[in-house]
Amino acid sequence: MSRGRVGDRVSGIRERIGRAATRSGRRPEDVLLVAVSKMQPIELLIEAREAGITVFGENYLQEAEGKIALLPDADWHFIGKLQGNKVKKAVSLFTCIQTVDSVRIAGEVSRRAVEAGTVVPVLIEVNLGCEWSKAGVDPAALPGMVEAVSGLPGLALRGLMAIPPAARDPDESRPHFARLRALLCEARRKAGGGERMTELSMGMSDDFETAIEEGATMVRIGTALFGDRAGRRP
Ligand SMILES: *Cc1c(COP(=O)(O)O)cnc(C)c1O
Repeated sequence: MSRGRVGDRVSGIRERIGRAATRSGRRPEDVLLVAVSKMQPIELLIEAREAGITVFGENYLQEAEGKIALLPDADWHFIGKLQGNKVKKAVSLFTCIQTVDSVRIAGEVSRRAVEAGTVVPVLIEVNLGCEWSKAGVDPAALPGMVEAVSGLPGLALRGLMAIPPAARDPDESRPHFARLRALLCEARRKAGGGERMTELSMGMSDDFETAIEEGATMVRIGTALFGDRAGRRP
């Protein structure tokens, strides 16, 4: 990609986010753009940073560590599969962990955050019924998990995250986005005065406008900003 392309794409995406937010009765600044930079070269991240991107999303700890060292003034969200033995490192590197998917992992985040003297904002990843992916908490188990997790020290439960099943058309994902929003309302009640539990991380390159119309407060956008990724991983 030639220099400057990422900057143009950032403005194009921001306009589309703004219009979708307005359609859903919100302000453009109510939707956070998380630039998903996994498997993208650092040059493109620097371009994005210069174009005003403040938050990056990464899936792999080792890859992220090098990039974070080069762009330490940005916010970094972890959006990959979190293994128990990597939690300490994730807590030290990331400003938010979006993919907490078990009480065990939440407990480990809590323990490591307390050890480090910090409080980590987290989202619970929900499995909205995608057969191909086992990531995320079953919606039926969500209320119990929220109850177990919301009182933990060192961890601030801020909301929910999901990747709906693959779809050909963004409108196919709409009911999944609506469902995640309903689950958030229910979870907030469970958390007991969880007024800070407001985040809905949903929507990617192909469906972020639909997600915003259904209430997304964070969209995670990779290829629409950076182009195709260098390689594929499971
Ligand atoms: C890779 C990834 C994205 C970005 O997907 P695009 O289709 O490239 O926008 C968003 N969320 C998660 C969890 C991802 O792993």
